[in-house]
Amino acid sequence: MIGAELSHDEASPIWDTESNLMSEATPVPRLLAIDDSELIHRLLQVRLQGERLELHSALSASEGIRLAQELLPEVILLDIELDEIDGFEVLSRLKQDPRTHDIAVIFISAASDTMDRVRGLDLGAVDFIAKPFEVVELKARVRLALRMRHLVKMLEHRAQIDGLSGLWNRRYFDQRLSQEFSEARRHGRPLSLIMCDVDRFKRLNDQFGHPFGDHVIERVAQVLLGGRGSDIACRYGGEEFSMILPSTTATHAQEVAERKRVMIESQSWTGHPDLVVTASFGIADLQRMPANATMEQLIQSADAALYRAKQQGRNRIEIA
Ligand code: GH3
Ligand code: MG
Ligand code: MG
Ligand code: MG
Repeated sequence: MIGAELSHDEASPIWDTESNLMSEATPVPRLLAIDDSELIHRLLQVRLQGERLELHSALSASEGIRLAQELLPEVILLDIELDEIDGFEVLSRLKQDPRTHDIAVIFISAASDTMDRVRGLDLGAVDFIAKPFEVVELKARVRLALRMRHLVKMLEHRAQIDGLSGLWNRRYFDQRLSQEFSEARRHGRPLSLIMCDVDRFKRLNDQFGHPFGDHVIERVAQVLLGGRGSDIACRYGGEEFSMILPSTTATHAQEVAERKRVMIESQSWTGHPDLVVTASFGIADLQRMPANATMEQLIQSADAALYRAKQQGRNRIEIA
């Protein structure tokens, strides 16, 4: 119980179990406790000392919400019985704010009323713990919440990655381009889009088989991935790729594309010493488009440039 002497749980640090998100290499997880009882905060400070965990405390609902927005902790321990507004209200506010929406919230309440638990879980809390609690149980529930958050993040990330190439997938491309497009518009910054398509790819598949075709896709993806960290390389579909280049003019995008073009044609292919794989590129630059051009038009424009590159003999770059 709170304040009771418990020592058996102290032996093993809880944050570096199976999941590598909680291992030494990752940032220390932040835990925010929102409770109007000073006693609880003191207890947590003492009992969580030495854990691989950054503990923050808020004594009121408003301070809790503010700290949640500021710190973006991984987990929040939330007391239901607070002054001003109660924990349910705090939770629904956290859920309404996209910044704090995904924080794992564990309810703590003295009233272990079933309907309270149901209400908290329905509002999106990941767990519930009744006061008085033993610290060993609290630690186990925090550990579980951290694991859940890690898994959700991993799934979210996987849903944006193309399985074969390891590049961002089409879904991510659409979402990211739309974001970069608005940013570029708002700040009057350049934004370039490169579309890239492997030349005569169908023939490669037919001649050397699909697994070899897949290998080519992987290799081209590696080439597109290397370079500036700010470039966003995506698999657009099949043997087509795209690169979003924020704050980059067509002239610079052309230099990037030229480097990629040369690297692709210089690859050597095991078992096929004479084979040269090439790709064609089309570039569109927001600054060269009419002021009211849409994102779709930017893509169409890069696509049209790519089509021209194909028509003019492939293994080349065209700017819209
Ligand atoms: P072009 O130079 O005009 O681009 O000719 P191409 O043969 O590359 O173009 P086309 O669009 O006709 O062919 C693309 C082929 O890519 C057709 C499809 O079978 C193949 N393809 C699409 N996705 C994959 C994939 O994931 N793996 C493999 N191995 N082949 C794929
Ligand atoms: Mg309270
Ligand atoms: Mg092709
Ligand atoms: Mg194609």
